[in-house]
Amino acid sequence: MCGIVGAVAQRDVAEILVEGLRRLEYRGYDSAGLAIVDENENFNCLRRLGKVQQLADALEEHEAKGGTGIAHTRWATHGEPSEINAHPHMSGDIAVVHNGIIENHEVLRELLVSRGYVFESQTDTEVIAHLVDWESRQCDSLREALQNTVKQLDGAYGTVLFDRKDPTRIVVARSGSPIVIGLGIGENFLASDQLALLNVTRRFMFLEEGDVAEITRREVSVFDVNGHSVEREVKESNVSHDAGDKGEYRHYMMKEIHEQPLALQRSLEGRLINGQVNAAAFGENAAELLSQVKHVQIIACGTSYHAGLVARYWLEEWAGVSCNVEIASEFRYRKSHVFENSLLVTISQSGETADTLAALRLAKEMGYMASLTICNVPGSSLVRESDMAYMMKAGAEIGVASTKAFTVQLAGLLMLAGAIGHYNALTEEQEAQLVTALQSLPTKIEQTLSMADAIEALAEDFADKHHSLFLGRGEQSAIAMEGALKLKEISYIHAEAYAAGELKHGPLALIDAEMPVIVVAPNNELLEKLKSNVEEVRARGGLMYVFADVNAAFASDETMKVLSVPHCDDFIAPIIYTVPLQLLSYYVALIKGTDVDQPRNLAKSVTVE
Ligand code: GLU
Repeated sequence: MCGIVGAVAQRDVAEILVEGLRRLEYRGYDSAGLAIVDENENFNCLRRLGKVQQLADALEEHEAKGGTGIAHTRWATHGEPSEINAHPHMSGDIAVVHNGIIENHEVLRELLVSRGYVFESQTDTEVIAHLVDWESRQCDSLREALQNTVKQLDGAYGTVLFDRKDPTRIVVARSGSPIVIGLGIGENFLASDQLALLNVTRRFMFLEEGDVAEITRREVSVFDVNGHSVEREVKESNVSHDAGDKGEYRHYMMKEIHEQPLALQRSLEGRLINGQVNAAAFGENAAELLSQVKHVQIIACGTSYHAGLVARYWLEEWAGVSCNVEIASEFRYRKSHVFENSLLVTISQSGETADTLAALRLAKEMGYMASLTICNVPGSSLVRESDMAYMMKAGAEIGVASTKAFTVQLAGLLMLAGAIGHYNALTEEQEAQLVTALQSLPTKIEQTLSMADAIEALAEDFADKHHSLFLGRGEQSAIAMEGALKLKEISYIHAEAYAAGELKHGPLALIDAEMPVIVVAPNNELLEKLKSNVEEVRARGGLMYVFADVNAAFASDETMKVLSVPHCDDFIAPIIYTVPLQLLSYYVALIKGTDVDQPRNLAKSVTVE
């Protein structure tokens, strides 16, 4: 689920591999390793627990020369993070790296032990190495050995390997975990994400599900799931070269928080015309499909799920269609009802989130009218497999904790409410108001970012706290959930979120001076109700931090700190109120000294179940 990089070249590839791994570091990982072989079959394998820098340091001491190599950053799923469990794994002359999970690894391990193989690690990956070694003894080529191996594997994987006795080629298989091949001149590369290779090529070939490919310096041959030789389109990448650069910021997360006005501006460009949402933003034939929608089923995970929860309010209130939102890992394992003229919407920054992708594939057999994905990565699995796609155009998001992707997803979902509402409940004036509100987003977010200093000062109060509670009403209850998720992800403070009206049904029991309560309070028709909830907390000695509209008439006192949020249209309030909560979690994490961009135990693009 983390990073893979590979290269077959005439020049030494160690540096290219390490640079590639560095570019994938943002995904979060626990160990790193590489295997390199030169044309005389001199072979080196180095693995280190910890950061890519540790691997780079090891390379200074143990030179690894050679033009054929594979490298990996591991996010442990089977077996603790350790040097012995780090990839590559070896079996005889075969070196393997793998992203994902082999679900039937136990059965395969037993089979391989009975064949005399000795396992060195606790990983599921090692079964691939031994299986390929076994198969390569029964057939003529490494590629065939891999093809025979993948037939025996259940689960999701991107796997890459070579035989140290044949340094001219690397073979690779993709099933559920992305692999892209980078084409050079007289040299070829591969990676789990094109970002890893942008310093060596801009020409990419994206493998499809079930593909197995063989890569030499001069040739790339691809075979589909049935073993037939196939051509895969070569695309020129327009991803920015410096997408991986922190610029003036200390962390990617802060850079990405500040990129939001620009990301939103890019995302909205050309999509709002004459007071209307341009349905073409969702795909070529979107207008016709969207005009028939009567129900929306949203499927997502994590932060994207919170975006879906906000969208439910918008779709039901403004578009006049019913909407359900469900976590992908639940949806895919239960029987659910499909309403008539129901649109399936998946939301995923990477477009490779394993549970969401599985849910889409399942839903396709269930009779949904059409599928739409809200996604940031062109050519990703969700984009390829959905009928319609709203490309977020947020630019690469490197911080593991999602920030700009969330606000851009929300803008896309508000547009969806506009586009569907256009054919249903939304009046012309309302649609024009929605469009104006969307257009004001870049400026409003810019204004909201100026709260940073005040929020930094307030973050001090959280440094010694172990728990926190986030409250909001309506759409803002989902923003409270996102705020709580952000705080727990990067500062490791336990944070819970409640719809404020639920307070008295349980969480009020938790209130004391050690439990900061964060409230999001835009000036809308629920404000008075929210104020009553604030009083409930105050009466029980709770300490509150209220992010309130400038006109909401909240005043700071000894039990409550009020931070004014610029006034904005109701339509976009959930997007605007997200920003101070992002800043709060960032500054609290800074004080706590956590790894802001790569929080412990988390990975960016969750390509395992
Ligand atoms: N399941 C493998 C392991 O635990 C691969 C994990 C990954 O995707 O990094 O080693």
